[in-house]
Amino acid sequence: MRYTTTSPAPMRGRNFLMTPGPSNIPDRVLAAMHRPAVDLMDTDFMALAESCFDDLARVFGTAGRVFLYASNGHGAWEAALANLVGEGDLVLVPSTGMFSWAWGKLAEDLGARVEELPSDWRSGFDSARIEERLHADPGHRIRAVLAVQTDTATSVTSDVAAARRALDTSGHPALLMADVVASLGSTDFRMDEWGVDVAVAGSQKALMTPPGLAFNAVSERALRESRAAGTRRAYWDWRQRMGKEFYMLFCGTPPEHLIWALREALDMIFEEGLDAMFARHRRLARAVHAAVEVWGQAGALEFNAVNPAERANSVTTVRVADGIDADRVRLLARDGLDVSLGGGLGPLEGKAFRIGHMGWVNEPMVLGALGVVEMALKACGVPYGKGGVTAAVDSLAEARFPETSRAGAG
Ligand SMILES: *Cc1c(COP(=O)(O)O)cnc(C)c1O
Repeated sequence: MRYTTTSPAPMRGRNFLMTPGPSNIPDRVLAAMHRPAVDLMDTDFMALAESCFDDLARVFGTAGRVFLYASNGHGAWEAALANLVGEGDLVLVPSTGMFSWAWGKLAEDLGARVEELPSDWRSGFDSARIEERLHADPGHRIRAVLAVQTDTATSVTSDVAAARRALDTSGHPALLMADVVASLGSTDFRMDEWGVDVAVAGSQKALMTPPGLAFNAVSERALRESRAAGTRRAYWDWRQRMGKEFYMLFCGTPPEHLIWALREALDMIFEEGLDAMFARHRRLARAVHAAVEVWGQAGALEFNAVNPAERANSVTTVRVADGIDADRVRLLARDGLDVSLGGGLGPLEGKAFRIGHMGWVNEPMVLGALGVVEMALKACGVPYGKGGVTAAVDSLAEARFPETSRAGAG
């Protein structure tokens, strides 16, 4: 049970989990888990689990192999590194925000040498600078480039395909690893077409699955190199998981309920279609952007992502002016109004809030959440431009009903 100080009344109606992970879990996915565990070697379960590996590969856009861990995204990060990056290896991290920083930190903790290409955390990485740095490494000491597609802290989406081009034009053999935890399912990602060697993701963002599963999608080249890599690894080892025994696909007991949940979520993803799913996220993101744009007109709120083309499909980071406590807005929305938002991370702590719009979301949920954010701004005395929610309505109406909404405008 939730203890709240601002809202003594019990919650009635739905809680909107508009955090950038975990995200709202569809009822169908919840229902899929409501069953007893089965025998480890149950043949129906084995077939269902194997179908998840194949379908995840489709979501990643790869003919490569997918590995699945009972872990969160941090586990997926470590797995990718443990299989390929040894102690003392150099990795290049083009900075995008707290998540590129944290992946680099994890690499450092594993003994790698990490070089960051700094950024202001307000724009995507610059592939020209990646290329320049690779050119300055004629001895090919850089083992891997760690690229975060959508950095959930800054809500900036970077061009992963451009990172590949930087590697190609400089003729550098470093591996390209992509973190798509916050973007897979919400944003176009084509692992093979873009030449990504390893992609890491987790279950609880746009994939509509409960937290607790993590994925590595691995190209043939990365798999080959990992076989030869002298890194120490056990649970994360891809090689262990490629044996004939079903049990070893999970290096132990499969997280059965999460697999049932994932199967249901994958069915939902293919029923909608990946392209339609991206378009839905884009449309909802644009509505959020329309509201933030208007709220910002009073001078107290602004987008963290400065370049509109780089604003993420799945999350929007809103900065508040000095002297305003962003956490007050967030806590009031969560504890008083049943809408959970993300807080500012790292240097943005207390200085930003984040609206998650990923996974199982639609127009009413986004409009409801935006309405509550506006209420919270008002309650906290934060100056905001009036009409943000109306701007979101207009944006959605225009996207869904272009003919009539234009005729009715004005
Ligand atoms: C959420 C997230 C992670 C970490 O995932 P956890 O499941 O919290 O460990 C990593 N990268 C990005 C981009 C994320 O959004």
